[in-house]
Amino acid sequence: MNTSLSLHIPNNAKKYDYIFAGAGVSACLVLLELHRKNLLLQKSILLIDPTVHNTNDKTFCFWADEQETILEMLSPLISHSWSHIQISETKIENISPLTYNHIESISLYHEIEKLEKIYSWDRLYYPVEEVHRDHTGPYIYTNGLQYYADIIFDSRTPTYLSKGHFQTHIFQSFIGWTIQLTKPLFDIDTFRMMDFNIEQDDCTQFVYVLPFSSTQALVEITRFGSDLIQKQCAEQYLHHYITEQFGEYSIIDNEQGCIPMSNVKIDNEIKQDIILLGARNYLTKPSTGYTFKSMFYHAHNIVDKIHLSQDINSLNKEYTHMSTGRFAFYDSLLLHILHTKPHQGKPIFQALFRGVDTKHILRFLDEKTSLTEDIVLFTALPWTPFLITLVQKIIALTWFRPLLLTCLTILLYAFGYNTISQQIIGYGVLAIGLFAVGIPHGAVDHILEMGHWDRKKTPSFIISYVLLSLLFGCIWYVNAPLALFLFIGYSCWHFGEADGKQWGFSSIISFLWGITVLLYILTSHVPETNSITNSIAHITFSWKFPEWIFLPFFLFSIFKKQYSLTITILWLLISSHIPLLLAFGIYFIGQHSITSWGHIKDHIKQNNIAIWTKALPFHAGAWLMLLIFFMLRPQTSLSETDIFGYWGTFFIFISCISFPHSIAMYRLYRREKF
Ligand SMILES: Cc1cc2nc3c(=O)[nH]c(=O)nc-3n(C[C@H](O)[C@H](O)[C@H](O)COP(=O)(O)OP(=O)(O)OC[C@H]3O[C@@H](n4cnc5c(N)ncnc54)[C@H](O)[C@@H]3O)c2cc1C
Repeated sequence: MNTSLSLHIPNNAKKYDYIFAGAGVSACLVLLELHRKNLLLQKSILLIDPTVHNTNDKTFCFWADEQETILEMLSPLISHSWSHIQISETKIENISPLTYNHIESISLYHEIEKLEKIYSWDRLYYPVEEVHRDHTGPYIYTNGLQYYADIIFDSRTPTYLSKGHFQTHIFQSFIGWTIQLTKPLFDIDTFRMMDFNIEQDDCTQFVYVLPFSSTQALVEITRFGSDLIQKQCAEQYLHHYITEQFGEYSIIDNEQGCIPMSNVKIDNEIKQDIILLGARNYLTKPSTGYTFKSMFYHAHNIVDKIHLSQDINSLNKEYTHMSTGRFAFYDSLLLHILHTKPHQGKPIFQALFRGVDTKHILRFLDEKTSLTEDIVLFTALPWTPFLITLVQKIIALTWFRPLLLTCLTILLYAFGYNTISQQIIGYGVLAIGLFAVGIPHGAVDHILEMGHWDRKKTPSFIISYVLLSLLFGCIWYVNAPLALFLFIGYSCWHFGEADGKQWGFSSIISFLWGITVLLYILTSHVPETNSITNSIAHITFSWKFPEWIFLPFFLFSIFKKQYSLTITILWLLISSHIPLLLAFGIYFIGQHSITSWGHIKDHIKQNNIAIWTKALPFHAGAWLMLLIFFMLRPQTSLSETDIFGYWGTFFIFISCISFPHSIAMYRLYRREKF
């Protein structure tokens, strides 16, 4: 088989037994296993990858028990094994029956080259543009041609979707030198892991030393963090570390790489007979970057299935989604700490290594410990960063906010209708919410439109904003019922639009949700609503939206596992038993404003305080107008009808300023996907 470009280019019509989209490490491991089980005879195979793998671009390390299959199968490729470990500056430990093993990628690629010669596979050096299936079966699309196969193994480098709540995407970047010493100083049985005896640079950085002989070793500096380690800086640290620890040296080889440490979803679609491999199949452990051993066992399982003529697709169910168990939870906490407080990495790892037996740690990293063993391990860790992160994680859970709103609604209900305690707690919470997010969420429209405060454009934006508000005020003046109808209409649209993005509704369903919510709140408080609407537009409601109106949304929430929606429906139903202004206020602030704020934050890509400060001139203006409004209220005590008339005027004011805001948000939702 010739691996040079353009030879063996297959016809468009050609169908293969197996196509490998991406011929990197995971693909090599599957091919090796297929060969070992004698399953490659008479198989037509296409390997397609734009990269020519003819250098030692990676070195792989993994630990394994001496009984493990991986050692038995890959022993010819293992270039070195260590039986002892030195972690940081702690004592040297014998890790028997485990060994830490080293494989050079070039030895793997050479094995595959040999197999290519034996089996005459086809090769293309193009990027695969699409991996899909149609009625004929799975196919890849590249360079204008389609190639079909019985099974496609897809190991193309993964692309990640945008970060969800409490998801982290950082990097493990490393730069290493294979060095030659003048004196025999290395202990060839002992590798040094995570030596934090270097500058941290507000990141988590450490050194590995993997000795191959008494004078030769790979010394590698690794950084966990959002920014990659820079070559010049890494080389300075390496030089300093090596001279200090081992004296004179010369460089004989180097390695540089980067592994994503991520619990963000990968852009994958699961399709029949398309098997995802390697990093694309979430086989990289997010908190460590170790992938090799998982890839080997995945390959082993795939080939077992093929050997036993079992359906290979069941492996997609097992592997092809993010792990959600307790180890994924631990990983997510650690990743969050490494991302938000990178300087905490060193004390955490050092405490772990000092307090826990190394074999226990390695079994934990292999996700093979029991819950009790995990707890023992956690007792060695500094608790504070983990507890803070845990609280942050709970707050970020999608059902946390609706649950809190449910508790608030139940509490207000328990106080009794319009009691002093209900009013103090209810209106107190709403006042804080209005100040923190309710008003500010509508005060950044100028930035949504222009991206920043623009001296030239902002004044004209403000003028058009004020004119739109005045226009709506005029409609109230000329035809109050029409204005009320429009106000309710665009509010339904606006509320539904923000909530719909959260729960993945289409535009129409979002609008229906907005109508359901707003009209349910209004009509479940008919006397209070009518007092207001009658005083401002001589309109009254004589009907109530029944509770079952929420049923389709409730069923959707259960079916789609959108439990935050289920809980929201719950507290909306309870809110019919508390006063109108409290019920509406809880929805407006607790659901609508906070959801919209999240979207605004995603768009502006700044933190809460920065956005709040940017909004300050406008929400301060809004507060000033409200203050004037309240100060101008008649000083004599108002009759009940007057109070509702007074609130009616307040809502006219709100309708005027929220009209241009609804338009600004509509334009944002048109422009951006959330
Ligand atoms: C330098 C380095 C050292 C590492 N060391 C270790 C270690 O010690 N231990 C460990 O457990 N893990 C380690 N890893 C992590 C992991 O084992 C490797 O990243 C491993 O290569 C992952 O295998 P893979 O098949 O998923 O990806 P790769 O080996 O990267 O293969 C993916 C292939 O897809 C190809 N490709 C990309 N786009 C397309 C396209 N559109 N069409 C066709 N082909 C495409 C690429 O060219 C590549 O050849 C290391 C990673 C790096 C980068």
